[in-house]
Amino acid sequence: MITLELTDVEIDHCIKCGGIWLDAGELELLLGEPEKAKQLLDAFKLDSTSTEKPRKCPICYKKMRKIIVGPTKPALLIDKCRRGDGLWFDKGELEDIISRAELDKDNKIQKLLADMFGHDQKEEA
Ligand SMILES: [Zn+2]
Repeated sequence: MITLELTDVEIDHCIKCGGIWLDAGELELLLGEPEKAKQLLDAFKLDSTSTEKPRKCPICYKKMRKIIVGPTKPALLIDKCRRGDGLWFDKGELEDIISRAELDKDNKIQKLLADMFGHDQKEEA
């Protein structure tokens, strides 16, 4: 894992798999809009039906829980540490969650992520 600095937030990025680890509270910092961050976090639901293999938390090494984010389809599934150490995003999931947060158009985080990780922003077909 390497550490990247994104709008003053240090995020951990795995070069091998393209995943991103955010310590607790960093997602809120990245979003930069407390109201929207809260809405997004309130939309987290524990998923008990997922057949995705659980990941281990890079901090406490315990299996993380799958969290469904928001009502939007297709469901976005991320991993959350049981102790609350932080959140794990598979490749592309951080961009996905940020696009779902419906941030203001002049919020730079989406573009920064796209530049940094080279994923194109999803356009409605
Ligand atoms: Zn943990």
